[in-house]
Amino acid sequence: MSVMQASISHFTLENLQVHPISIQMAVARSTQPKISFSGLVDQHIKESMVRLSVALKDRGLSLPKDHVTIHFTPAIYEKKGSDYDLALALGLLNLFGFIPRIPKNLIFLSELGLNGDLNGSDHFLAFYHHILQHHPDHILVTSLEIHSWLEQNHAPCRQVISFENLSEVIMWIKKTPHPQLPNKSETPIQQTIPKANLSPLKEVHGLNKSKLALLTSLISQTPLLFIGSPGVGKTLLITQAKHLLPPLSFNTWLEGQLLTNIRDQKNIHFSPPFRTPHYQASPEAFTGTYHRGKWIPGEFSLANGGILFLDELPHFKPQVLEALRTPLEERVFLLSRAHFHARLPAEFTLLSAMNPCPCGYFFVDPCACTCTHRQISTYLSRLSGPIRERFGIIHFVVPKEELTTFSEYPIDSICCLGNLRNQFGKTFQQQVLTESFKNWYTSHNHSIKTPFTYLNKRSVRHMTKIALALSLLREAETPNEHDWSLAWEFQNAHTCFTEITL
Ligand SMILES: [Zn+2]
Repeated sequence: MSVMQASISHFTLENLQVHPISIQMAVARSTQPKISFSGLVDQHIKESMVRLSVALKDRGLSLPKDHVTIHFTPAIYEKKGSDYDLALALGLLNLFGFIPRIPKNLIFLSELGLNGDLNGSDHFLAFYHHILQHHPDHILVTSLEIHSWLEQNHAPCRQVISFENLSEVIMWIKKTPHPQLPNKSETPIQQTIPKANLSPLKEVHGLNKSKLALLTSLISQTPLLFIGSPGVGKTLLITQAKHLLPPLSFNTWLEGQLLTNIRDQKNIHFSPPFRTPHYQASPEAFTGTYHRGKWIPGEFSLANGGILFLDELPHFKPQVLEALRTPLEERVFLLSRAHFHARLPAEFTLLSAMNPCPCGYFFVDPCACTCTHRQISTYLSRLSGPIRERFGIIHFVVPKEELTTFSEYPIDSICCLGNLRNQFGKTFQQQVLTESFKNWYTSHNHSIKTPFTYLNKRSVRHMTKIALALSLLREAETPNEHDWSLAWEFQNAHTCFTEITL
């Protein structure tokens, strides 16, 4: 009895992570036709053989009636769905000698119709993101439908080859047994969003210090909390922030979407997300859920690359506020459910707002405030110490903010923060800035009185970021005296909480 073998590379998606796998096939001469599967495959894959037989027969390719064993390795990961149809068809054709051996850098990704047409793929975005990140020499072979979707959305297509049907793929493999990628490197095209020449912040009158706090937060991606009475303009100001962000790169967009189904996608929107969940939203609405094998992204993922705005911050559920801690610190969050664990990107800037007391008028006019000290204290205590510490900038928005003090910062003429953000990424050096901050701090020791070593590491990091963002706004690369004083002020509003809640 002779045994023939074939092998074809592929991927699988488990726990929202892509793993490379190999589909191995072996045939043993037998009088009874039979196909056996192993390696944790689901019913969809087993049923695919019925479709494949019809599609192959339709092309005049009848497979010998032998015993074929198909093993997906490594067997520890689950393999699901109809994405493997095309790979299985080509593996079988290679196994029986109809086509040459298939190179390891080709990934065939498409469902097959009964007539042999390539019908798209469920996990295309996840696998595509994976090869863009980790396998620059791999080629995804898929349907025309997916290719044209990528082209329409100006996505990089260098590693994607598409065909209409199985016959075309077979002809291509026969003609090109060792396909190579074109040498020309392709840079992802950024979608441009027409921008007004007017600064979005100019629409809001006054509030210069609040505008400065907002710009600083957006450049350095430092979480910001505005505290102010109703109608003072804090929400209006934050709403303008979405117009200041640069459009998303395709890669950032993909990162946020990689786990969704390509069949759910119509057009990509490159405008940076501006998410405003209600305070009654559940913790799952933020983290996302995994239901019946389908990933439903939450606010942390939906805000990736943009802004998450939490208005009325103390009213959010304590579990939601606690869940914010990891994404704010590490720019990713961990999703942990029974049999399901994933690490997901959460690159957003957190902007939030709240009233100073339950009635809202504490800072405007203490006489107008009807709250007792106990009520105010209970209200502010809803934000725990660890949560408050995550806010690098806490700023009290008051109607009569100084108008002239900040003339060195071009607050009202900034239209987009794209360049400043890039500059921030290139120039931020924690150690150098910490030294610079230490010098400033020591020279002001007489007024501050706490030794530098007593400072919390997180607040030092926040302050260095804020000071650098302020200096970049002035078109300088090193913070000056004024930048450090402002950074200190923005960071030290924390103490007000402590004083009031005592
Ligand atoms: Zn009050």
